Amino acid sequence: MAKIDEYIPIVGKPVIDDLRLLADKLKGRVIQHINSTRLGGGVAEILSRMVPFLKELGVDARWDVIKGGNDFFEVTKKFHNALHGSPQDISGGDFDIFMQASRANINEVDTYGDIVFVHDPQPVALIEKKAGNKWIWRCHIDISNPHLKVWHFLKDFVASYDAAVFSAPGFSQRLPVRQFLISPSIDPLSDKNRELSREIIDAVLRKYNIPAEKPIITQISRFDRLKDPAGVIDAYRLVKKYIDCQLILAGGAAVDDPEGQKVLEEVREKAQNDEDIHILLLPQSDIEVNALQRASAVILQKSLREGFGLTVSEALWKAKPVVASNVGGIPLQIKHKNSGLLCHSVEGAAFAVKQLLNNPRFALKLGENGREHVKNNFLITRHLKDYILLFLSLYHPEDIVYL
Ligand code: UDP
Repeated sequence: MAKIDEYIPIVGKPVIDDLRLLADKLKGRVIQHINSTRLGGGVAEILSRMVPFLKELGVDARWDVIKGGNDFFEVTKKFHNALHGSPQDISGGDFDIFMQASRANINEVDTYGDIVFVHDPQPVALIEKKAGNKWIWRCHIDISNPHLKVWHFLKDFVASYDAAVFSAPGFSQRLPVRQFLISPSIDPLSDKNRELSREIIDAVLRKYNIPAEKPIITQISRFDRLKDPAGVIDAYRLVKKYIDCQLILAGGAAVDDPEGQKVLEEVREKAQNDEDIHILLLPQSDIEVNALQRASAVILQKSLREGFGLTVSEALWKAKPVVASNVGGIPLQIKHKNSGLLCHSVEGAAFAVKQLLNNPRFALKLGENGREHVKNNFLITRHLKDYILLFLSLYHPEDIVYL
């Protein structure tokens, strides 16, 4: 973990001074994050940086993970998709499975935090353990158009929390608790995002037998239908008719996403041995993801639904031109034709990618603007300040805190 002062050249000393000052006010409080996986997906990515950073600031931050079997994670993945508004067949049995695993976690997980910070629906029922401490529910999903049966079920739990946090204004819901809008962030000094030498980038390309000469289009995402890997291949094929290019579809596994293997097989089948399509099942390797993003001419994020879309921030931070769907938190990050290109279809994605490959100066400008936008809005230092103010506000409910 980078030492805090190393962030000063990026964000300026006043930002770090503020963080130290605010963090000092949390002395003696334990902040306990709880989610459902230590590896894979945006939530784990954020916590793996946020918790050490809070500790470095002198805050007693911890991170615990609930347990669940395959049946539980199959149900929570259905819930996840349903909350994103994707049609799902949800039965009474699904709610029973959810409650059964939740009860086991209620018995086993020690919710010792002065502030218990619960991420996403999987651990939401732990609120039954609330006993004089403060509880926050952090929703990383775009629930602007949720499957109502699932949302009403979850809402009953959320109503007992002290506060709820959403990533974007459009995601919030009517709730009887205080709501905060806090967008996620990336860590500019993590292995995922720090500068890399050309040698490291080339070594990663060699490892995966990817020639550096031909332009590379890349989507980094869990193998998940909502990330639309099939649409990515279709878009690449449309581009390929005009420009000789390669496609990287790289993803890893997440413990709480049991669909990954099946989707990976579908994607391999669809790629049909095209030697310019590189389908990579990555080990948890932040430097490799970083290198693949940096080696790319264009980054694609053709999600059908999205929470925030950290991969977009990661690419923009590397000043890469990005083509991404106009869904979830992506339009917060990409202003069309300014910090990237938004698309609505396979054809739209292909058109935008072609435009960027054919016009490197335009691509460069979008990338530069994107980096500036991320620097101003989506770095971990801004996120930490928002979180610390949120924590402090729980002890001062009568004061208005602007986040
Ligand atoms: N990621 C990774 N390896 C992979 C696929 C994804 O490290 O093979 C990371 C990616 O770089 C990003 C996070 O996982 O930091 C995904 O977050 P995002 O918000 O884009 O999507 P989510 O998976 O949470 O839906």
